[in-house]
Amino acid sequence: METFDYVIIGSGSAGSVLANRLSEDAATTICVLEAGPSDWHPYIHLPAGFIKTFHMKSINWAYQQEPGPYTAGRSIYAPRGKTLGGSSSINGHIYNRGQRLDFDTWAQIGNRGWSYSDVLPYFKRLERRVGEGDDAYRGRDGNLTVTTMEWKDTLCEAFMAGAMSLGIPRNPDYNGAIQEGVSYCQRTIRNGLRVSAATAFLHPARKRPNVHVRTHAHATNIIFEGKRAAGVRYVKGGRGGTPVEVRANKEVILCGGTYNSPQLLQLSGVGSPELLQSLGIEVRHALPGVGEGLQDHYAPRTVARVKNIRTINQLRQGWHLWVEALKWATTRRGLLSLSPTMVYCFWHSGETTESSDLQLTFTPASYKEGVQGKLEDEPGMTVASWQQRPESRGYVRARSADPFDAPVIQTNYLAAELDRRVIVAGMKLARRLLQSHPLAPYYAYEDFPGPQVRSDDEFLAAATQRGTTTFHPGCTCRMGPADSTWAVVDDQLRVHGLQGLRVVDASIMPRMISANLNASAMMIADKASDLIRGKAVPAA
Ligand SMILES: Cc1cc2nc3c(=O)[nH]c(=O)nc-3n(C[C@H](O)[C@H](O)[C@H](O)COP(=O)(O)OP(=O)(O)OC[C@H]3O[C@@H](n4cnc5c(N)ncnc54)[C@H](O)[C@@H]3O)c2cc1C
Repeated sequence: METFDYVIIGSGSAGSVLANRLSEDAATTICVLEAGPSDWHPYIHLPAGFIKTFHMKSINWAYQQEPGPYTAGRSIYAPRGKTLGGSSSINGHIYNRGQRLDFDTWAQIGNRGWSYSDVLPYFKRLERRVGEGDDAYRGRDGNLTVTTMEWKDTLCEAFMAGAMSLGIPRNPDYNGAIQEGVSYCQRTIRNGLRVSAATAFLHPARKRPNVHVRTHAHATNIIFEGKRAAGVRYVKGGRGGTPVEVRANKEVILCGGTYNSPQLLQLSGVGSPELLQSLGIEVRHALPGVGEGLQDHYAPRTVARVKNIRTINQLRQGWHLWVEALKWATTRRGLLSLSPTMVYCFWHSGETTESSDLQLTFTPASYKEGVQGKLEDEPGMTVASWQQRPESRGYVRARSADPFDAPVIQTNYLAAELDRRVIVAGMKLARRLLQSHPLAPYYAYEDFPGPQVRSDDEFLAAATQRGTTTFHPGCTCRMGPADSTWAVVDDQLRVHGLQGLRVVDASIMPRMISANLNASAMMIADKASDLIRGKAVPAA
C-alpha cells in the first residue's frame, strides 16, 4: 500500500490551498484524491461558461435537495464542483469575504484564533488584489487574483444610482473596513479567465515532486486503526471501479465540502449512532453533530421587464453572440467575460439590530424560473435578495451505506420566523430598488413576483414558490468546543475524539457568514495549514 504523510480528500477550494501550503516543505509527501476529472474543459475557464457547467454532470455532483417546509414542495437543485478546484471551478467568481462580525461570532462561540483579526492575515496572504483597496485589509502578493468587474453597464450604473437615491452609499471596497453599500462586484478573474483554487494553488503545487494528485479517485471510507485515521480507501473510476488504499503517516484531511465531508464521515462510521445503525453502518465513533446544522442562503429573485435598452438576454442571441465571441477571443472582454452577477449591495432589513443583514445582487438579465442557468428570451433585469445570517438549520445524511448514493440534503430554508421576515423585507427593498427614479427610463413592469403581490403573506408565498439556493451551503461539521452537543471539530479542525483526522472546508463554519463562501473556504485551509505545521499566525 502506498504511504504519504498527508492524504487530502477533495481538491476543491480548501483542498487546493492546503495541498499548496503543506507541500512547501519538500520533505513532506501529499496525496490528493479527487472524485472528479481534471479541469481541462474550456467552459470551466471561460467566465460565461458558468451557465454550461451549472448542469454538466461530468464535472458537477448535481445534487437535488429534499423539499422543505417553505419551498412549496419543490426539490431545489444543488450544483457542486466535481473536478480539480471543486466548486471554485464552476462557481460565479464573486470574491466576498464577509463582515468582521461573522468571524468574531465564531470566536465568541468558543473557537480560539478565529476572530476577524485572527483570520484577516490569511485573507490577505491568499490574494493578489488588483485595483482599489486599503492595504490594511487587502493582499497584493498572493496567488489568488481578485479584480473588479470592468464591464460598465448603463443599467448597472442606473441601479447603483437608484440605491444611492434610497440612501445606500457607494462603497469602493466591500472587502475592506465596511461591507455596507453598493458597488460593482469583485471577482476571481484574470485576463478574462477564471482563477479557480486549482489554477491559483493546486496546479502550481503539482510542479513540486512531493504532490501526487489522483483524479477519478472517489474516496469511499476512511480507514481507522482504533481511534486513529490511518488511511483512505477509494475507488478508481467511480462505481464498479478498482478499489485502492493509501496510508497517511501523519493525517487524513477531509476537504470534500459541505455535502460530501459529513457523508464520508458517516460512511466511515463516525456520526449519530441512530442514523448509522438505521443504515447498517457499524458505529466506530459516536459524534451526533456530523451532518447536522446545514445552513445556506435562500434567494428569491425579483425580475422586471426592460424597455429602451438591450440586456444580456438579447446580447447572447443570434449574431450578437458571434460578435461577443470574437470580442472575447481578441480582447478577453465583453459578454463572455461576465459573471452571473454584476453589482453587489449590502443593506439593512430593519428586522434585526445587526450590521447589514441583507445581500442583494443586480444583473442586467433575467433567467428562466429565476434560476441562474437558462436565460430568458425577453429583456429583463434581476435583483436577487437574501438574508446574510439565517437562523434556519437543516442536515446532510448518508442515504444508504453505498458511497455512490447521493446524500439526503435538507436545508430547511425559512424554517425560522426571523428568516421569513428578513426575506420579505429583502424582496420589498428589491422592488424599491428596481422602481427607483434612475431606473425609470428602462423599467417596463415587474414580472416576478408581480404588482398584485402587496402584503407580507403574499411576498412570503412568492418567496416559497420561486426562491432558490445561492450555492453557499456550510456548517455540517461545525467547529466548536468538545462539550457542545453539535461540534464535530475543535478549533484546530481536528475531529473530536479521533486522532489523525481533520475536516478543512466550508463545512466547519459554525455559523453562516455574510458572504459567498469561496474566499472563506480558502482562508480556512490557509489557516489550517499553519495549524497543522505548528506555524505562527502571519502578522496582521
Ligand atoms: C454554482 C455555484 C456558484 C457559486 N458561486 C460562488 C461565488 O460566486 N462566489 C463564492 O465565493 N462562492 C460561490 N460558490 C460557493 C463556493 O464556490 C463554495 O462554497 C466553495 O468552493 C466550497 O469550497 P470547499 O472546499 O468547501 O468545497 P468544494 O470546492 O466543493 O470542494 C470539494 C471537493 O471534494 C471533492 N470530493 C467530494 N467528495 C469526494 C470523495 N468522496 N472523494 C474524492 N473527492 C471528493 C469534490 O469533487 C470537490 O472537488 C458557488 C458554488 C456553486 C456550486
